[in-house]
Amino acid sequence: MKKIIFAILNLFQILYAQQSPLIVNNYQKLTSYDELSEFVDQLEKSSKIAAVETIGKSIEGRNIYVLKFSSTEFGQDDSKIKVLVFAQQHGNEQSGKEGALLLAEELLKSENKYLFDKIDFALIPQMNPDGSEANKRRNGNDADLNRDHLILDQPENIALHKFFDKYLFEVSMDVHEYYPFGEDWKKYGYRRNFDETIGAPTNINVSAKIRDLANEKCIPYIFDRLREKDFTAFSYILGGPPKLI
Ligand SMILES: [Zn+2]
Repeated sequence: MKKIIFAILNLFQILYAQQSPLIVNNYQKLTSYDELSEFVDQLEKSSKIAAVETIGKSIEGRNIYVLKFSSTEFGQDDSKIKVLVFAQQHGNEQSGKEGALLLAEELLKSENKYLFDKIDFALIPQMNPDGSEANKRRNGNDADLNRDHLILDQPENIALHKFFDKYLFEVSMDVHEYYPFGEDWKKYGYRRNFDETIGAPTNINVSAKIRDLANEKCIPYIFDRLREKDFTAFSYILGGPPKLI
């Protein structure tokens, strides 16, 4: 009898587990803003771990969502590490959004619940919904959000910085997408077709202690974990290919 009840509970979980729109659409189309909105709404309703908040609006009035995962009140337990991941500042870099939604689905599996006793995790799957809908890099103001973090005159970035300042996350990751098949680097004898490219802060406004910690400890650790999983990885290269003189 116990087994039958367990089987029914499992079936119930499977039926009501939220599937990312990418999977529902059998990887045949990218997730639209409306599908994303519906997904995060359902995720919140079906989970005790995840809560959804709108941190701001895009130029064209779309919501910027954050998913907050925690087993306690988010951001209130100082013994937990606060982690922020945000994706798709560039609207035509669609894989960050899709990866974030797949990650959300994965994190809600029962075997991953233990994580949220140790960390409070915030995930912003789509920083630039207007650019995403038009599949273009810039936002609805024709601004490059990733060139606006010092000036802060775009509403999407103001929302992100306000959210960051509220919790002062110890770890944050900004997710982008790059095209690995371009010919430009080959001319100079370089290959750039690795699975992942990762960089730590280089800006001298970031304290040297944090830069050193990220470069000497965090990045090598991430590379090791990626290689264990058979992903190829390389340091993020700023700018374009070297110029031949
Ligand atoms: Zn980008």
